[in-house]
Amino acid sequence: MKKGIVVFTLAFVAGVVIPASQVVGASPPSILKVDVHAPKALETLHDLGLLLYGQTDRFYLVADSPGARASLTARGLTVTPFHLSSNLPLYLVFLPREDILGIIAPPASLLYTDGRVALVQMDEATALKVSQKGGELALLPDEPHPVYLTPVRSFPSPTVPDTFIQRLVNKVNPDSIRSKIQRLQDFRTRYSYTDSCRAAEQYVFNYLSALGLDSVVFDPYPYGGYTWRNVIGTRVGRTNPQRVALACGHMDAISETPNSLAPGAEDNASGTVIALEVARAMAGEDFGSTVKFVVFTGEEQGLIGSDHYARLLRGQNVDLLGALNFDMVSWYQDSFGVTIRTNTASMGLAQLENRMAAEYTTLAHFVTTQVGGSDHVSFHNQGYAATGTIEYGYPPIRYPYYHTIHDSLAYLSIPLAAEVAKMAIATLATLAGYPGSAVEAGTPSLPLTTTLLPVHPNPFRGSARVEYSLAAKGRVRLSVYNVAGQLVRDLVNQIQSPGKYSASWDGRNQKEYKVPSGVYFYRLQTETFSDTKKAVVVR
Ligand SMILES: [Zn+2]
Repeated sequence: MKKGIVVFTLAFVAGVVIPASQVVGASPPSILKVDVHAPKALETLHDLGLLLYGQTDRFYLVADSPGARASLTARGLTVTPFHLSSNLPLYLVFLPREDILGIIAPPASLLYTDGRVALVQMDEATALKVSQKGGELALLPDEPHPVYLTPVRSFPSPTVPDTFIQRLVNKVNPDSIRSKIQRLQDFRTRYSYTDSCRAAEQYVFNYLSALGLDSVVFDPYPYGGYTWRNVIGTRVGRTNPQRVALACGHMDAISETPNSLAPGAEDNASGTVIALEVARAMAGEDFGSTVKFVVFTGEEQGLIGSDHYARLLRGQNVDLLGALNFDMVSWYQDSFGVTIRTNTASMGLAQLENRMAAEYTTLAHFVTTQVGGSDHVSFHNQGYAATGTIEYGYPPIRYPYYHTIHDSLAYLSIPLAAEVAKMAIATLATLAGYPGSAVEAGTPSLPLTTTLLPVHPNPFRGSARVEYSLAAKGRVRLSVYNVAGQLVRDLVNQIQSPGKYSASWDGRNQKEYKVPSGVYFYRLQTETFSDTKKAVVVR
C-alpha cells in the first residue's frame, strides 16, 4: 500500500506490450475492515483464503475481492469497505490522544478512527508529523499476504526457581545497562534516515560480535530509496537448532528535529539494551533451541525493519517459538513494573513471561490484549507469537519526553531496566530449553479450536486431502454428500483425541465406484461442531 496498489496487467497486442497505466477503467482499490471479535474471525479469513494487510486488537484489514464481502457477511462477520482515495501510503495509527488527527489535511485522508486506532492515507511528511505528535505508526504493505494461523503451543511449567535460570538472571549488570544506554544516546540522533543511525547499527553489530555468539549479521532492507539495516545475533540451539526464540527492540529514534538531535534514551535505547543485555547473559551458554538477539531500525516510520524481518522468517518457514519485544521499559511514575502487550493467539507466551516476572523480578506486571503499535505486531502479521513489553501503566500514563529532544538517560530508572532484562532472560531461556530443563519448550500442542479446512486440490480428478483439527476428544464423523444431500462416503467415523488430522478422498463412493463429475459436500461433525465445505470432482 506504500505506493498504492499497482496492477501489473499487461496486454499483448501484435507483439506490443502496453503497460497497465495506459489501460483505462481500472476500478479504484479498496480494502475491507473485519471485526476481530466475531468467534474465530481470523480462522474464517484463513479458510476463505483472503489476504491480510494488517491488524489491531479490534479489526483486520483484508483485500477486497469479488465475493469476499458476501462470503464474510454470510459467515456472520461485520465488514466495512473503504475506498482508497489516492496512491498515498496507508497507515494504521495507534493514538495516545485523538487530537493528533487534527493535523491530517488533504491530500492525506482519514479513512477511519475509533478514537484509539485510526486508518490514514498520508505522505511521508504527514506521517513524520503524526509520529512526532506521539502516534505509533504501522505502514501497511504494498501487497497483502496470506493469513497465517499462530500454532498453539504448550509452554512448560518450569520448576521455579530454577538454578540455571537464576544463574543467568544474576548476570544482569545495571552498570552495563547504563553505559549501553549512554552509548546509544551519545549518537545524538538515531533517526533512521541519518548516517548517525548507520553508525549506531555498526555499534550494535560490534557489541554483539564481541560477545562470541555463533553469528552476527546485518539484515539490510530497502525503504524509499534508502538501505537501512537490522542487526541479528544468533546462538545456535544444541538439540533443536531449527526452532528459534528471540528478544528484540528498535534502536531508531525520532524527535521534533530528528536530523540533528533524537537521543531516544527511553524510546528506545532502553528496549535495545534489553536485547543486548539478554545477549550478554546468554552468550556462551547452551540452549536446546536457537536464540536470537535482534535490533531493528525503521520502527518510527511504521515498523519497517521488523516487517521486513518477520516476513523473512515466514518466507523461510522458520519455527519461531516466540518474539519478545521491548519498547520503552526504563521510566516509571507510580508503579515499578511492566505491561505485557499481546494478541489472543500469543496469550500463552505472554502468560509465560508474566510468570517469569513474578518469579525472578520485583516488577509489577500485567498482560493486556491492547496490542499497540510496536515491532511485535510485525510478528503477529506473519502468524507468529509475540509480546511487546512497555513500562507499567501504559496507556494512559505516558513518558513526558516521548519523541522529543529531551528523551535522555537522566529521566530513566536503571533498576527498572535491570528487572526487565531479568524477565526477558528467564522467559527466553525457558522458551529455548536448557540442559536439565524439565520440559523442552514450545512443543506444538493441541489446537484450541475445532476447524475444517478447505479440501485440496479443488477441483480434483484423482484424490484430494481434507485437513481438520479437534479441540476435544469425542466421536468424529467426516463424510461426503452429493448435492441431493445423500451420503456418498464416510471418510472418518470414530473416537479421536485432540490434534491435527488429515483424510483423503479418492473420489469413490461407499461401494468403491468412482463418482461422476460434479459438486460434492464434505461435513465434519463432532458433538459440538459442524461445518460443511464444497469439493468439485472433474473426470
Ligand atoms: Zn519505540
